[in-house]
Amino acid sequence: MTDPMPNYDDSNIFARILRGELPCTGVWQDEAVLAFMDITPVTAGHVLVLPKIPSRNLLDANPVTLEALILRVQRIAKGAMIGMGSDGVSIQQFNEEAGGQSVFHLHFHVLPRWNNVPLKPPGGAAEKTEILVEQAQKIHRALV
Ligand code: 5GP
Repeated sequence: MTDPMPNYDDSNIFARILRGELPCTGVWQDEAVLAFMDITPVTAGHVLVLPKIPSRNLLDANPVTLEALILRVQRIAKGAMIGMGSDGVSIQQFNEEAGGQSVFHLHFHVLPRWNNVPLKPPGGAAEKTEILVEQAQKIHRALV
């Protein structure tokens, strides 16, 4: 059986973004979270929300981290709906490779949804930076 609680590896890409070693198109940050645009979005306005405290995924996160995180996910979900003018919003969160996780720093996907519009398959083409910046600004404005 796979180790149920593997260690956090701080060389993952989101840890590097959090340390400022790699760029991202930011939407929001405060003392607890960083939210930025997914580089290969499955819908317009696809935001990732992650805690600044290192956690591999939902399984090892401490309750204080989780509480702060889910409150920000709710806020960003509302901002994404308002900013993007969507009809709804889906929240996704994956744990371990078998559970669909590919980056091993806890994160939630915030996905604006429109009636009768399916999500694109994951792992598609990277979005143009100028489009991500425009969407990030719309969502950010809806948050403040
Ligand atoms: P997971 O399957 O782990 O929940 O999803 C990881 C997400 O991170 C994917 O949707 C993928 O597009 C996104 N992603 C991977 N690398 C980068 C990156 O360097 N920058 C950004 N902004 N998103 C990334």
